[in-house]
Amino acid sequence: MALFRSLTVVLLSAVFVFAGPLRLEGATVLASGSSLVRTVAITFDDGPNEKLTPPLLDILDSLGVKVSFFLVGSMAEKNPGLVREIRSRGHTVANHSYSHRSCLSLSADELEEDILKCSAVLEALTSVPVRFFRPPGGKYDRKTVERVRKNGMKLVLWDINSRDYTGVSPSYIANRMVRRAVPGSILLFHSGVKATIDALPVIIDRLRKNGFEFVTLDEMFSAYMANALFLAGAAKVPFSIM
Ligand SMILES: [Zn+2]
Repeated sequence: MALFRSLTVVLLSAVFVFAGPLRLEGATVLASGSSLVRTVAITFDDGPNEKLTPPLLDILDSLGVKVSFFLVGSMAEKNPGLVREIRSRGHTVANHSYSHRSCLSLSADELEEDILKCSAVLEALTSVPVRFFRPPGGKYDRKTVERVRKNGMKLVLWDINSRDYTGVSPSYIANRMVRRAVPGSILLFHSGVKATIDALPVIIDRLRKNGFEFVTLDEMFSAYMANALFLAGAAKVPFSIM
């Protein structure tokens, strides 16, 4: 089962709508990395947050951990210095739409415009191409996948949700994430939640004791492709020992 998971780029055929599963032929939606490598990727949605992103960046620096931020374009415009700071400290900057409207409520052209507007804001501030898109609320459909792919990005979800947006305590968040994380996990947190910042040192310390390393999505999916090549016989050694 683990091998199967590592072999396939996660093909999610379901969308999170009441219409039920929908086949997305050839569409790649990533919800985890390779299970062959004992790494996890921490991701934060909905930033930058004027009040909480600065202390979050300091904590990540003090712990020596790089993460990935799915930023909202309209919020990035209001906090350009924070976007530059996120990038200059070595974290991955990713696209969480410009307006944070549901992808399901927009036409294909409106959606594409919203996604590209966010990338334009982020790329103007960081001078780095945006590679990853996460739909607001995790809700997407066929047109979302198609427009994301058309613009050279990957649609990235998560496999472990902290539920930090529900008002739960730091200890709940820490216990939940440490218990559930597996090699290749993508952990979902949110930028404007104080309980998450309080939980983070505990999560990082306990996962490190369990042998995990922390990677950005850029690093996770470089490793993923290397492992896929290895398993396909195109590379001689897996990424973990390269
Ligand atoms: Zn969001």
